Amino acid sequence: MAQIELDRIDKLFGKVEAVVDLSLDIPDGSFVALLGPSGCGKTTTMNMIAGLEVPSTGEIRMNGASVVDVPIGKRNVGFVFQNYAIFTKLTAYENIAYGLRVRKMPAAEVDAAVHRVAKLLDIEPLLGRGVRGLSVNDLQKVAIGRSMIVNPDVFLLDEPFSNLDAGFRAFMRTELKRLQRELGQTMIYVTHDQLEAMSMAEHIAILDRGRLQQWGTPEEVFDSPSNLFVGGFVGSNPMNLIDVGLQHSGFGLVARAVDGGHQLIALAAERRFATTNDGLYKLGFRPEHARLVSPEDDAVDLRGTVSLLEELGPRNIVHVGVDNLSLRVVVLPSVRPTMGERVGVAFERTKFHLFDDSGLALI
Ligand code: ATP
Repeated sequence: MAQIELDRIDKLFGKVEAVVDLSLDIPDGSFVALLGPSGCGKTTTMNMIAGLEVPSTGEIRMNGASVVDVPIGKRNVGFVFQNYAIFTKLTAYENIAYGLRVRKMPAAEVDAAVHRVAKLLDIEPLLGRGVRGLSVNDLQKVAIGRSMIVNPDVFLLDEPFSNLDAGFRAFMRTELKRLQRELGQTMIYVTHDQLEAMSMAEHIAILDRGRLQQWGTPEEVFDSPSNLFVGGFVGSNPMNLIDVGLQHSGFGLVARAVDGGHQLIALAAERRFATTNDGLYKLGFRPEHARLVSPEDDAVDLRGTVSLLEELGPRNIVHVGVDNLSLRVVVLPSVRPTMGERVGVAFERTKFHLFDDSGLALI
């Protein structure tokens, strides 16, 4: 069990700033995802926690004690990588047992532990088989078992499911979450896939170019992105973004859509704005927080024409052309507007965002 603190970590490789001024407080027993695009510093951060890399500056503490000078072998961390590190000449059993055998644990105890882990991972029937004959999916389970058996304080997983097929990946996401709950270990999961992070983690650290963009629960990063980068990176459907000019009028605050034919959007008075300055901003709302209405409806924010219907099964996405903008609206499959139909788009007044010209979210 471990609570992990990263305190103002920098990691430079020559002139490359892999990680910059990163502070995180990872609660004991939590499931945390490090999320971001390729090259944002996820693996470097994980390697520093593991002891594979030393920070250029800053402190890493586990349960309150500095581990910067503690070698990897003494940190009690378990790893699972994309390319499962297993011994190809051994059986599944011998691979899983390895970590306990090198610790000279009595054979009966090793045997009980191997069976317990194999049962958790549902691979007991495979234990006697050589790993060469196993499927990619089962190999990754053996790799997880191998790390799990030594009961590490922290479990580090670096894109462990990227080589697995889509169906099994979805299955393993649920399995890993279940395992983490049962074992109560601190788990740090590196991924560039926002869906993986959102569906499994309790807390997500979103990184871009080595810098922390936001730390929060999946709900927090989805509903209240701290900036334009997070707003765009999180969510299965891209956020609708409109350049607007803010104006104060007799009716309260009004946004004029610069790219949307200069249509006026009344912004609800109940949301507080961090700025009262008139000026240029980006107004964002998620396709899930918008609905199609009649162009004459009182709630309408923008009027346009239907340009595309994406049929995705349980939900469809309607694309609405507004001047030179294309907005997305998530609808039930029963909503089937025709191409070119004139429609209105309305978004939820408690769920929209305003970003300033530096990309920072004002609300
Ligand atoms: P990916 O998902 O592609 O693995 P990542 O988010 O894990 O990306 P890192 O691998 O941590 O990112 O890399 C962060 C930055 O540091 C990148 O610019 C990378 O090229 C650089 N970097 C990482 N390791 C080294 C190294 N050993 N030497 C030089 N530069 C490195």
